[in-house]
Amino acid sequence: MRAPYASDPVRTRGRRHAEAPSPPRDDFQRDRDRIVHSTAFRRLVYKTQVFLNHEGDLFRTRLTHSLEVAQLGRSIGRALGLNEDLIEAIALAHDLGHTPFGHAGQDALHACMASAEPDGGGFEHNFQSLRVVDRLEERYAAFDGLNLSFETREGVLKHCSRRNAQWLAAHDPTGLGRRFLDRTQPSLEAQLCNLADEIAYNAHDIDDGVRSGLLSLDQLEELPLIRRYLDEVRASHPRLTGRRVLFETLRRVLSQQVYDVIDSTRAQLRAHGVEDPERARQLPPLVRFSDDMRALTDEVQCFLRTKLYRHPQVAETTGLAREVLRELFERYAADPAQMHAQQLAGRSVPRAVADYIAGMTDRFALQEHARLTGRRIVWPDRRRAAD
Ligand code: MG
Repeated sequence: MRAPYASDPVRTRGRRHAEAPSPPRDDFQRDRDRIVHSTAFRRLVYKTQVFLNHEGDLFRTRLTHSLEVAQLGRSIGRALGLNEDLIEAIALAHDLGHTPFGHAGQDALHACMASAEPDGGGFEHNFQSLRVVDRLEERYAAFDGLNLSFETREGVLKHCSRRNAQWLAAHDPTGLGRRFLDRTQPSLEAQLCNLADEIAYNAHDIDDGVRSGLLSLDQLEELPLIRRYLDEVRASHPRLTGRRVLFETLRRVLSQQVYDVIDSTRAQLRAHGVEDPERARQLPPLVRFSDDMRALTDEVQCFLRTKLYRHPQVAETTGLAREVLRELFERYAADPAQMHAQQLAGRSVPRAVADYIAGMTDRFALQEHARLTGRRIVWPDRRRAAD
């Protein structure tokens, strides 16, 4: 049963280009279907989350990450009476604008854009996700992009710099950029996807970190949130060894975080007497952890930042990834004809190059880099036997 504060497809703020309805699907279900059938969605399977795509077959990719966000979002959303279809659409689309090679790729592309066009807004992956669904997908005769509903687009644009929000306010008649200037919130479904994203990547980065050998169970014991459930697993299964200890621990952490969000959000909704989706936009963020869980989760994030994302071995590969994207950018900017069948279509050369590179899979970026520079990147070998 949907709650009165859930987003209602019947009351959608609509699409940028009017379209006839598509029964029996409602607008948010149709958005979800369009995302699943898009080219950008299929590319997610070959894009790095933290570990590079070639480093092992069992690490998360952008695709499996997005599916995990959708699963967590739907579970929590169902308990809260939110719109599951909208949650799923946002979760599946939220990372469509990510570059190859994860955050290293994004940083490199941002640096390239900032120097090529100092007033151009740089490169932001959230803003790029919106560009993908609004403009870059080429599937329909009547319009560019996927022509998604306002509510899905609002959820996809999770963050936005002030400069890009101002640009949107001036150029996008749907008012999508306004909330970053007014400091209002997106729908509850969009708020939930932000938190589900965080819950998903903290848990799976720990899992992938241990799988890679860069993190150890002993290190994880430093974290009170992990320690609590690790002790519980060891007490109830004293003979359990190996990976199952970690899986049992992480599954308890995930469950606890899900219950915590459900309880805390319900309390917020009650406290503010929220009966309407519009009212939720005017209040502080309502989908949240308890203060206690927030603090425990922040510790996990801080740990991952220092121990995994900045691990010297990760830094070595991300340094190489940055070099690949920087050199690709330079080559295409100097000779745009090297981009296959790319037209400027009203874009500056640097923006067309950034769009082209951002859309690449890790593998295609490496192929293109080898073709254009004649050099093959030799990655440090830290692949471990698959289990
Ligand atoms: Mg994400």
